[in-house]
Amino acid sequence: MTYKITVIEGDGIGPEITRQAVSVLQKAAGLCGFSVKITKALLGGEAIDQTENPLPEETIEICKASDAVFLGAVGGPKWDGLPGNMRPEAGLLKLRSSLELFANLRPAVAYPALRAASPLKDELLKDGLDLLVVRELTGGIYFGERGRRHVNGEEAAFDTEEYLESEIRRVSKVAFELAEKRSGRLCSVDKANVLESSRLWRETVTALSKEYPEVLLSHMYVDNAAMQLIRNPGQFDVIVTNNMFGDILSDESAIITGSLGMLPSASLGGTQLGLYEPVHGSAPDIAGKDMANPIAAILSVAMMLKYSLGEPAAAGMIEKAVEHALLSGARTPDIAKAGEAASGTREMGERIVKELDLA
Ligand code: NAD
Repeated sequence: MTYKITVIEGDGIGPEITRQAVSVLQKAAGLCGFSVKITKALLGGEAIDQTENPLPEETIEICKASDAVFLGAVGGPKWDGLPGNMRPEAGLLKLRSSLELFANLRPAVAYPALRAASPLKDELLKDGLDLLVVRELTGGIYFGERGRRHVNGEEAAFDTEEYLESEIRRVSKVAFELAEKRSGRLCSVDKANVLESSRLWRETVTALSKEYPEVLLSHMYVDNAAMQLIRNPGQFDVIVTNNMFGDILSDESAIITGSLGMLPSASLGGTQLGLYEPVHGSAPDIAGKDMANPIAAILSVAMMLKYSLGEPAAAGMIEKAVEHALLSGARTPDIAKAGEAASGTREMGERIVKELDLA
Protein backbone atom coordinates (compact mmCIF):
# COMPACT_ATOMS: atom_id res chain seq x y z
CA MET A 1 0.00 0.00 0.00
CA THR A 2 1.32 3.44 -0.94
CA TYR A 3 -0.28 6.58 0.50
CA LYS A 4 -0.08 9.94 -1.27
CA ILE A 5 0.90 12.62 1.23
CA THR A 6 1.14 16.34 0.48
CA VAL A 7 3.81 18.00 2.58
CA ILE A 8 3.80 21.77 3.09
CA GLU A 9 6.91 22.81 5.01
CA GLY A 10 5.90 26.46 5.32
CA ASP A 11 7.86 29.20 7.06
CA GLY A 12 10.01 29.81 10.15
CA ILE A 13 10.54 26.54 12.04
CA GLY A 14 8.17 24.79 9.57
CA PRO A 15 10.89 23.16 7.43
CA GLU A 16 12.97 21.99 10.46
CA ILE A 17 10.10 20.28 12.27
CA THR A 18 8.65 18.89 9.03
CA ARG A 19 11.95 17.17 8.21
CA GLN A 20 11.80 15.27 11.53
CA ALA A 21 8.08 14.48 11.13
CA VAL A 22 8.67 13.06 7.63
CA SER A 23 11.58 10.91 8.74
CA VAL A 24 9.47 9.48 11.59
CA LEU A 25 6.61 8.84 9.10
CA GLN A 26 8.95 7.03 6.71
CA LYS A 27 10.47 4.94 9.49
CA ALA A 28 7.03 3.92 10.82
CA ALA A 29 5.87 3.11 7.28
CA GLY A 30 8.89 0.84 6.72
CA LEU A 31 8.30 -0.96 10.01
CA CYS A 32 4.56 -1.43 9.38
CA GLY A 33 4.79 -2.55 5.74
CA PHE A 34 3.40 0.39 3.79
CA SER A 35 5.00 3.27 1.93
CA VAL A 36 4.37 6.96 1.42
CA LYS A 37 4.74 9.05 -1.73
CA ILE A 38 5.44 12.62 -0.76
CA THR A 39 4.58 15.62 -2.93
CA LYS A 40 5.66 19.04 -1.73
CA ALA A 41 3.38 22.08 -2.09
CA LEU A 42 3.61 25.79 -1.35
CA LEU A 43 1.60 27.78 1.19
CA GLY A 44 2.02 30.97 3.20
CA GLY A 45 5.11 33.15 3.09
CA GLU A 46 7.11 30.81 0.87
CA ALA A 47 4.21 30.76 -1.62
CA ILE A 48 3.93 34.56 -1.54
CA ASP A 49 7.66 34.89 -2.29
CA GLN A 50 7.51 32.44 -5.19
CA THR A 51 4.05 33.08 -6.67
CA GLU A 52 2.69 36.28 -5.05
CA ASN A 53 -0.23 34.21 -3.74
CA PRO A 54 -0.45 32.71 -0.20
CA LEU A 55 -2.43 29.74 -1.57
CA PRO A 56 -1.60 28.93 -5.21
CA GLU A 57 -4.33 27.04 -7.09
CA GLU A 58 -1.80 24.25 -7.72
CA THR A 59 -1.52 23.64 -3.95
CA ILE A 60 -5.28 23.08 -3.66
CA GLU A 61 -5.16 20.62 -6.56
CA ILE A 62 -2.20 18.70 -5.11
CA CYS A 63 -3.89 18.52 -1.70
CA LYS A 64 -7.20 17.32 -3.15
CA ALA A 65 -5.42 14.53 -5.03
CA SER A 66 -3.74 13.18 -1.89
CA ASP A 67 -4.74 10.93 1.00
CA ALA A 68 -3.63 13.44 3.63
CA VAL A 69 -1.88 16.78 3.99
CA PHE A 70 0.86 17.64 6.48
CA LEU A 71 1.68 21.27 7.26
CA GLY A 72 4.61 22.62 9.30
CA ALA A 73 3.58 26.24 10.02
CA VAL A 74 3.18 29.48 8.11
CA GLY A 75 3.75 33.18 8.72
CA GLY A 76 6.42 35.51 9.98
CA PRO A 77 7.38 39.19 10.33
CA LYS A 78 8.53 39.39 6.71
CA TRP A 79 4.90 39.22 5.54
CA ASP A 80 3.20 41.04 8.45
CA GLY A 81 2.83 44.28 6.50
CA LEU A 82 0.78 42.73 3.67
CA PRO A 83 -2.98 43.34 3.40
CA GLY A 84 -5.12 40.78 5.29
CA ASN A 85 -6.13 38.63 2.30
CA MET A 86 -2.52 38.43 1.07
CA ARG A 87 -1.01 37.30 4.37
CA PRO A 88 0.29 33.76 4.92
CA GLU A 89 -2.44 32.97 7.49
CA ALA A 90 -5.14 33.87 4.92
CA GLY A 91 -3.74 31.10 2.71
CA LEU A 92 -4.14 28.59 5.54
CA LEU A 93 -7.74 29.63 6.32
CA LYS A 94 -8.58 29.36 2.62
CA LEU A 95 -6.95 25.93 2.39
CA ARG A 96 -9.03 24.64 5.32
CA SER A 97 -12.25 25.92 3.72
CA SER A 98 -11.28 24.72 0.20
CA LEU A 99 -10.83 21.22 1.62
CA GLU A 100 -14.10 21.59 3.60
CA LEU A 101 -12.43 20.69 6.88
CA PHE A 102 -15.12 21.46 9.46
CA ALA A 103 -13.89 19.51 12.50
CA ASN A 104 -10.71 20.44 14.31
CA LEU A 105 -9.35 17.82 16.70
CA ARG A 106 -6.91 18.85 19.39
CA PRO A 107 -5.82 16.21 21.85
CA ALA A 108 -4.23 17.26 25.14
CA VAL A 109 -2.12 14.53 26.68
CA ALA A 110 -0.12 15.06 29.86
CA TYR A 111 3.01 12.90 29.75
CA PRO A 112 4.20 11.67 33.17
CA ALA A 113 7.79 12.57 32.17
CA LEU A 114 6.75 16.21 31.67
CA ARG A 115 4.64 16.61 34.81
CA ALA A 116 6.86 19.49 35.98
CA ALA A 117 6.17 21.47 32.79
CA SER A 118 2.41 21.68 33.51
CA PRO A 119 1.11 24.73 35.39
CA LEU A 120 -1.40 22.47 37.23
CA LYS A 121 -0.71 20.90 40.62
CA ASP A 122 0.59 17.32 40.59
CA GLU A 123 -2.49 15.96 42.36
CA LEU A 124 -4.74 17.11 39.47
CA LEU A 125 -2.71 15.10 36.97
CA LYS A 126 -1.82 12.11 39.11
CA ASP A 127 -4.08 9.83 37.03
CA GLY A 128 -2.72 11.28 33.77
CA LEU A 129 -4.69 13.30 31.25
CA ASP A 130 -5.83 12.40 27.77
CA LEU A 131 -8.63 14.58 26.48
CA LEU A 132 -9.74 15.57 23.02
CA VAL A 133 -11.39 18.84 22.03
CA VAL A 134 -13.45 18.72 18.82
CA ARG A 135 -13.98 22.27 17.60
CA GLU A 136 -16.33 23.32 14.79
CA LEU A 137 -14.01 25.04 12.33
CA THR A 138 -15.88 26.59 9.42
CA GLY A 139 -18.97 28.25 10.90
CA GLY A 140 -20.19 30.40 13.78
CA ILE A 141 -19.14 33.88 14.77
CA TYR A 142 -15.80 33.82 12.92
CA PHE A 143 -17.69 33.50 9.64
CA GLY A 144 -20.97 35.29 10.41
CA GLU A 145 -22.08 38.73 9.33
CA ARG A 146 -20.09 41.54 10.95
CA GLY A 147 -19.83 45.25 10.63
CA ARG A 148 -19.78 48.73 12.08
CA ARG A 149 -22.65 51.20 12.41
CA HIS A 150 -23.66 54.28 14.31
CA VAL A 151 -26.05 53.94 17.24
CA ASN A 152 -27.28 57.12 18.90
CA GLY A 153 -24.37 59.03 17.46
CA GLU A 154 -21.62 56.69 18.61
CA GLU A 155 -19.60 53.97 16.90
CA ALA A 156 -20.87 50.39 17.33
CA ALA A 157 -19.64 47.02 16.02
CA PHE A 158 -21.31 43.63 15.70
CA ASP A 159 -20.39 40.00 14.92
CA THR A 160 -23.02 37.33 14.34
CA GLU A 161 -23.10 33.76 15.61
CA GLU A 162 -25.22 31.67 13.23
CA TYR A 163 -25.27 27.90 12.85
CA LEU A 164 -27.21 25.66 10.51
CA GLU A 165 -28.52 22.49 12.09
CA SER A 166 -26.55 20.52 9.47
CA GLU A 167 -23.30 22.24 10.51
CA ILE A 168 -23.87 21.28 14.15
CA ARG A 169 -24.90 17.76 13.23
CA ARG A 170 -21.85 16.96 11.07
CA VAL A 171 -19.26 18.09 13.62
CA SER A 172 -21.17 16.38 16.47
CA LYS A 173 -21.23 13.17 14.44
CA VAL A 174 -17.42 13.25 14.29
CA ALA A 175 -17.31 13.78 18.06
CA PHE A 176 -19.78 10.96 18.82
CA GLU A 177 -17.82 8.56 16.63
CA LEU A 178 -14.56 9.48 18.36
CA ALA A 179 -16.17 9.14 21.80
CA GLU A 180 -17.46 5.70 20.81
CA LYS A 181 -13.88 4.59 20.07
CA ARG A 182 -12.52 6.13 23.28
CA SER A 183 -14.17 6.04 26.71
CA GLY A 184 -17.75 6.55 25.51
CA ARG A 185 -18.09 9.97 27.20
CA LEU A 186 -18.90 13.15 25.30
CA CYS A 187 -19.38 16.60 26.80
CA SER A 188 -21.05 19.21 24.58
CA VAL A 189 -20.16 22.76 25.60
CA ASP A 190 -22.46 25.71 24.85
CA LYS A 191 -24.06 28.79 26.38
CA ALA A 192 -27.67 27.63 26.00
CA ASN A 193 -28.80 29.65 29.03
CA VAL A 194 -28.22 32.84 27.01
CA LEU A 195 -27.63 32.24 23.29
CA GLU A 196 -30.25 31.05 20.77
CA SER A 197 -27.52 29.53 18.59
CA SER A 198 -26.44 27.49 21.62
CA ARG A 199 -30.01 26.33 22.20
CA LEU A 200 -30.10 24.97 18.64
CA TRP A 201 -26.65 23.44 19.28
CA ARG A 202 -27.91 21.63 22.38
CA GLU A 203 -31.16 20.43 20.72
CA THR A 204 -29.25 19.09 17.71
CA VAL A 205 -26.58 17.27 19.74
CA THR A 206 -29.26 15.79 22.02
CA ALA A 207 -31.30 14.56 19.03
CA LEU A 208 -28.20 13.01 17.45
CA SER A 209 -27.32 11.20 20.69
CA LYS A 210 -30.21 8.77 20.02
CA GLU A 211 -28.05 7.31 17.24
CA TYR A 212 -25.20 6.69 19.69
CA PRO A 213 -26.72 4.82 22.63
CA GLU A 214 -23.25 3.66 23.73
CA VAL A 215 -22.08 7.24 24.28
CA LEU A 216 -22.88 9.01 27.53
CA LEU A 217 -23.65 12.61 26.53
CA SER A 218 -23.45 15.51 28.97
CA HIS A 219 -23.86 19.27 28.46
CA MET A 220 -21.93 22.05 30.13
CA TYR A 221 -22.03 25.84 29.90
CA VAL A 222 -18.80 27.26 28.55
CA ASP A 223 -18.01 29.37 31.61
CA ASN A 224 -18.27 26.30 33.83
CA ALA A 225 -16.24 24.22 31.33
CA ALA A 226 -13.41 26.79 31.44
CA MET A 227 -13.34 26.42 35.22
CA GLN A 228 -13.73 22.63 35.30
CA LEU A 229 -10.81 22.15 32.89
CA ILE A 230 -8.51 23.65 35.50
CA ARG A 231 -10.30 22.29 38.58
CA ASN A 232 -10.63 18.67 37.46
CA PRO A 233 -9.45 18.05 33.87
CA GLY A 234 -9.65 14.27 34.31
CA GLN A 235 -13.48 14.38 34.24
CA PHE A 236 -13.40 15.04 30.47
CA ASP A 237 -12.72 12.69 27.60
CA VAL A 238 -14.15 14.15 24.37
CA ILE A 239 -15.46 17.74 24.29
CA VAL A 240 -17.42 19.09 21.30
CA THR A 241 -18.11 22.76 20.91
CA ASN A 242 -18.54 25.65 18.49
CA ASN A 243 -15.79 27.56 16.71
CA MET A 244 -15.16 30.34 19.24
CA PHE A 245 -15.61 28.32 22.45
CA GLY A 246 -13.39 25.62 20.90
CA ASP A 247 -10.72 28.15 20.05
CA ILE A 248 -10.52 29.24 23.68
CA LEU A 249 -11.02 25.89 25.44
CA SER A 250 -8.53 24.04 23.23
CA ASP A 251 -5.80 26.56 24.11
CA GLU A 252 -6.69 26.23 27.77
CA SER A 253 -6.59 22.43 27.69
CA ALA A 254 -3.39 22.59 25.66
CA ILE A 255 -1.40 24.51 28.23
CA ILE A 256 -2.20 21.85 30.82
CA THR A 257 0.30 19.66 28.97
CA GLY A 258 3.12 22.18 29.43
CA SER A 259 4.35 23.33 26.01
CA LEU A 260 2.99 24.50 22.70
CA GLY A 261 5.74 22.41 21.11
CA MET A 262 3.96 19.20 22.19
CA LEU A 263 0.51 19.75 20.67
CA PRO A 264 -0.68 18.16 17.43
CA SER A 265 -3.94 18.79 15.58
CA ALA A 266 -6.08 17.34 12.84
CA SER A 267 -8.70 19.04 10.70
CA LEU A 268 -11.23 16.67 9.17
CA GLY A 269 -14.13 16.96 6.74
CA GLY A 270 -16.61 14.55 5.29
CA THR A 271 -13.96 12.44 3.49
CA GLN A 272 -10.76 10.61 4.45
CA LEU A 273 -8.66 13.62 3.47
CA GLY A 274 -7.46 15.57 6.50
CA LEU A 275 -4.99 18.33 7.28
CA TYR A 276 -2.49 17.60 10.04
CA GLU A 277 -0.42 20.31 11.66
CA PRO A 278 1.14 21.26 14.98
CA VAL A 279 -0.93 23.75 16.97
CA HIS A 280 1.97 26.20 17.24
CA GLY A 281 3.00 28.78 14.65
CA SER A 282 6.23 29.39 12.77
CA ALA A 283 8.13 30.62 15.88
CA PRO A 284 10.33 33.14 14.02
CA ASP A 285 12.26 33.83 17.26
CA ILE A 286 13.87 30.37 17.18
CA ALA A 287 13.71 29.56 13.43
CA GLY A 288 16.89 28.12 11.93
CA LYS A 289 18.50 27.62 15.36
CA ASP A 290 17.83 23.87 15.77
CA MET A 291 15.87 24.68 18.96
CA ALA A 292 12.26 23.90 17.97
CA ASN A 293 10.47 20.95 19.54
CA PRO A 294 9.43 18.61 16.68
CA ILE A 295 7.08 16.50 18.86
CA ALA A 296 3.88 18.43 17.96
CA ALA A 297 4.69 17.80 14.28
CA ILE A 298 5.57 14.14 14.91
CA LEU A 299 2.36 13.54 16.89
CA SER A 300 0.43 15.21 14.04
CA VAL A 301 1.83 12.48 11.78
CA ALA A 302 0.49 9.91 14.27
CA MET A 303 -2.96 11.54 14.00
CA MET A 304 -2.70 11.36 10.20
CA LEU A 305 -1.98 7.64 10.39
CA LYS A 306 -4.95 7.14 12.70
CA TYR A 307 -7.60 9.34 11.09
CA SER A 308 -6.80 9.53 7.36
CA LEU A 309 -4.66 6.50 6.52
CA GLY A 310 -6.28 3.84 8.71
CA GLU A 311 -2.92 2.73 10.13
CA PRO A 312 -3.59 2.83 13.89
CA ALA A 313 -0.74 0.42 14.70
CA ALA A 314 1.82 2.77 13.14
CA ALA A 315 0.20 5.70 14.98
CA GLY A 316 0.44 3.85 18.28
CA MET A 317 4.11 3.01 17.64
CA ILE A 318 4.91 6.70 17.11
CA GLU A 319 3.05 7.75 20.25
CA LYS A 320 4.93 5.12 22.27
CA ALA A 321 8.27 6.15 20.74
CA VAL A 322 7.63 9.78 21.78
CA GLU A 323 6.75 8.65 25.30
CA HIS A 324 9.88 6.49 25.54
CA ALA A 325 12.14 9.24 24.21
CA LEU A 326 10.75 11.59 26.90
CA LEU A 327 11.11 8.93 29.60
CA SER A 328 14.73 8.40 28.56
CA GLY A 329 15.30 12.12 29.21
CA ALA A 330 15.21 13.62 25.70
CA ARG A 331 14.26 17.31 26.03
CA THR A 332 14.25 20.26 23.65
CA PRO A 333 14.79 23.64 25.38
CA ASP A 334 11.05 24.40 25.72
CA ILE A 335 10.45 21.32 27.90
CA ALA A 336 13.81 21.16 29.70
CA LYS A 337 14.03 22.25 33.33
CA ALA A 338 16.33 25.19 34.12
CA GLY A 339 19.93 24.02 33.91
CA GLU A 340 18.98 20.69 32.27
CA ALA A 341 20.87 19.71 29.08
CA ALA A 342 18.67 20.03 25.98
CA SER A 343 18.68 18.40 22.54
CA GLY A 344 18.19 20.20 19.26
CA THR A 345 15.30 19.63 16.84
CA ARG A 346 17.28 17.10 14.79
CA GLU A 347 18.55 15.13 17.77
CA MET A 348 15.03 14.87 19.24
CA GLY A 349 13.74 13.57 15.89
CA GLU A 350 16.60 11.06 15.70
CA ARG A 351 15.93 9.82 19.23
CA ILE A 352 12.29 9.18 18.37
CA VAL A 353 13.30 7.32 15.19
CA LYS A 354 15.71 5.25 17.32
CA GLU A 355 12.89 4.42 19.75
CA LEU A 356 10.81 3.23 16.79
CA ASP A 357 13.65 0.88 15.86
CA LEU A 358 13.63 -0.55 19.37
CA ALA A 359 9.86 -1.06 19.38
P1 NAD B 1 4.14 30.71 17.74
O1 NAD B 1 3.35 29.50 18.07
O2 NAD B 1 4.89 30.67 16.48
O3 NAD B 1 5.19 31.00 18.93
C1 NAD B 1 4.79 31.32 20.26
C2 NAD B 1 5.95 30.98 21.22
O4 NAD B 1 6.06 29.56 21.32
C3 NAD B 1 7.31 31.49 20.71
O5 NAD B 1 8.09 31.88 21.82
C4 NAD B 1 7.93 30.27 20.07
O6 NAD B 1 9.34 30.27 20.09
C5 NAD B 1 7.35 29.14 20.92
N1 NAD B 1 7.19 27.91 20.12
C6 NAD B 1 6.28 27.70 19.13
N2 NAD B 1 6.45 26.48 18.61
C7 NAD B 1 7.48 25.91 19.26
C8 NAD B 1 8.14 24.67 19.14
N3 NAD B 1 7.78 23.72 18.25
N4 NAD B 1 9.20 24.42 19.96
C9 NAD B 1 9.58 25.33 20.88
N5 NAD B 1 9.00 26.53 21.04
C10 NAD B 1 7.96 26.83 20.23
O7 NAD B 1 3.12 31.94 17.79
P2 NAD B 1 3.37 33.48 17.40
O8 NAD B 1 4.74 33.90 17.84
O9 NAD B 1 2.18 34.16 17.90
O10 NAD B 1 3.30 33.52 15.82
C11 NAD B 1 4.44 33.47 14.96
C12 NAD B 1 3.96 33.38 13.52
O11 NAD B 1 3.26 32.14 13.32
C13 NAD B 1 2.95 34.47 13.14
O12 NAD B 1 3.23 34.88 11.84
C14 NAD B 1 1.61 33.77 13.24
O13 NAD B 1 0.64 34.36 12.43
C15 NAD B 1 1.97 32.39 12.76
N6 NAD B 1 1.06 31.32 13.19
C16 NAD B 1 0.87 30.31 12.31
C17 NAD B 1 0.10 29.22 12.67
C18 NAD B 1 -0.05 28.07 11.70
O14 NAD B 1 0.69 28.00 10.74
N7 NAD B 1 -0.99 27.17 11.92
C19 NAD B 1 -0.49 29.16 13.95
C20 NAD B 1 -0.23 30.20 14.85
C21 NAD B 1 0.56 31.28 14.46
